[in-house]
Amino acid sequence: MDDAEFRRRGKEMIDYIADYLKNINDRRVTPEVEPGYLRPMLPKNAPEKSEKWDDIMKDLERTIMPGITHWQHPRFHAYFPAGNSYPSILGDMLSSGLGIVGFSWAASPACTELETIMLDWIGRMMALPVGFLPFDPKRDNKDSDDEEEEEEEEEEELSPESDEESSGDNLHETMSNGHGQKQTRHIGGGVLLGSASECILVAMLAARTKKITSKRQADPLMEDGQILARLVCYTSKLAHSCVEKAGLIAMVRVRQLAVDEHFSLRGKTLEECIRADKEKGLIPFLVSGTVGTTSCCSYDNLEEIGEICQREKLWFHVDGAYAGSAFLCEEHRYIMKGLHYADSFNTNPNKWLLMNFDCSCFWVRDKFALINAMSVDPLYLQHKHAQKAVDYRHWGVALSRRFRSLKLWFTIRSYGIEGLRHYIREHCRLAKVFASLISTDNRFEIIGGVTLGLVCFRLKGSNKLSQKLLLSLNDSGCIHMVPSMVNDIYIIRFAVCAKYATDDDMHVAFRIIQEHANDVLEEYRA
Ligand code: PLP
Repeated sequence: MDDAEFRRRGKEMIDYIADYLKNINDRRVTPEVEPGYLRPMLPKNAPEKSEKWDDIMKDLERTIMPGITHWQHPRFHAYFPAGNSYPSILGDMLSSGLGIVGFSWAASPACTELETIMLDWIGRMMALPVGFLPFDPKRDNKDSDDEEEEEEEEEEELSPESDEESSGDNLHETMSNGHGQKQTRHIGGGVLLGSASECILVAMLAARTKKITSKRQADPLMEDGQILARLVCYTSKLAHSCVEKAGLIAMVRVRQLAVDEHFSLRGKTLEECIRADKEKGLIPFLVSGTVGTTSCCSYDNLEEIGEICQREKLWFHVDGAYAGSAFLCEEHRYIMKGLHYADSFNTNPNKWLLMNFDCSCFWVRDKFALINAMSVDPLYLQHKHAQKAVDYRHWGVALSRRFRSLKLWFTIRSYGIEGLRHYIREHCRLAKVFASLISTDNRFEIIGGVTLGLVCFRLKGSNKLSQKLLLSLNDSGCIHMVPSMVNDIYIIRFAVCAKYATDDDMHVAFRIIQEHANDVLEEYRA
C-alpha cells in the first residue's frame, strides 16, 4: 500500500467505522458462531503474494464480522461499558501513525510528558488526594492559595508514609532541592498501563518488594524467599479476579474476605484475619480494596481499611476500575472517603470515560516504591536526562509503550470536563430509569440498590429461575448481560453501556426482559 492508497483506504475505513456505529442497531448483539468457526473460513497458510485491499475488506465482512460481539450496541449491558468515542479513536489512530515506542523520556519526550500531564489532569478532575499528583514547581507555586495549602497539610498528616519502610528518602531530597523544602508528598504520580489487572499486579509487586526490603533490613539473616513464603494479601470475595491472579504471578497468598450485608469489606473482618495470620507467623503486606466491584458495584469501607493499613504498615491499593470515573462528579465523591489512606489507585478511562481500550490510569503515592521493584538499566536504554526525566519503563512490566495519552488529550479537550460529567450523570440517571421499570413488575427484585450505572436484579425465587432467564435472554442474541453471585444470591447485572443510551433503550431492554420472563415462568409452572 503506497501513500496515495493509504489516503484513500484510510478515508474508507473511517466511513466503515462511522457506518458500523451508526447502524449497529441492525445487528444481533452477540454472534451466532461456535468455537473454531473461523479456521475453515481462512486459508491454512499466510499468502505468499500480496493481496488486493478490496478482497481483504470483503473477507472482513464475510469472516470476521459474523464473529463480533457488538460491545457498542445499545442492547449490550454486560460487564461494564467499553469506552469509545470519535476523538479517542482518532487519538489511537495518530498513535499508530506516529509509530513511536515511548519506553523512556528520550525514546519520545512528548509521549512521556503528555502522559504525566494527562494523569495530573485526570487526578485533578477526580479530586484525588494530592499525594498522587506529581510535583510541578510552576503550577504548585502559582496555585498555592491558602485552600490548597491547607488541603496539602491535611494530606501530609494523613499520609500513610512509614519511616520503617519508606523507600528512596534520598530521592525526596533530590526532588525538593530546587525549592529548599522537604516535599515528601511530591513523590507521587501517575502512569498509563494496559489494564486494571496490570495496575494491581504492579501495586502488588511494589508492595512485595517494599515489605521484603524492610523485613530484611530488620533481620539481615532472613532470606527473600523465606519472607516471600509468609506474605499475605487481603481483598474481598467480591474483588475482581485479577487480584487473585496477581497473587498467582507474585507467588503470594491472597485471602478473599467476606463482605457485609451491603457487600462491603469492613475493617473488623480485615483486622481479625490479620491478627490470626500474624499469630501463625505470616506477614501481611497488602490490602486491595475496591470501589465499584465488578459483581455488583459495591464499595469497600476505605476509611476503616485504610486506618488499619496505616497502623499495620500495609500497602493499601484501591481498585476503582469502573467507579473511579464517577469521581468527576461532586455528588459521587462520597465513595472515595478514605482514599487519602491509599498508597495506590487505579481507574480505567477505557471503561467509563469514553476512551478506547487500552487506557488504565494508575497513581502511586511513592513512585520510588515502583522503581525499586521494577527497575533494570541496560546501557542501551540509558540516556543523559535520566536523572531529571520520568522513564515510565520503570513503572510497569512492559518496556515498549504506546502513545496512549494522545487519546486522553483529544477526548478530554473535545468533551471538556463538563461533557464527560454529563455523560457519567446520564448513565447514572438511566440506571435509575431502568430500576424504576423493574420495580413496576413484582416478579423481579433489585439487589443492592442502584449503584452508578449498574442495576442488579433477579426473578424472585430460586437462583435457577434467574439463571434460566439470563440464558434465554443471551441465547436470543437481542440483548446481552452477565450474571454474578453475591452472598450466594444469583443476580443479573444490567450495566448502562452505550455511549448515547436513551430512555427508550431502557424501555426496550425492560420489555425484552419481561417477555423472556413470561416464557421462563410459564415453563417453570408447566
Ligand atoms: N477491577 C474491576 C473493578 C473491574 O471491573 C475489572 C474489569 O471489569 C478489572 C479490575 C479488570 O480490568 P482489566 O480488564 O482492565 O484488567
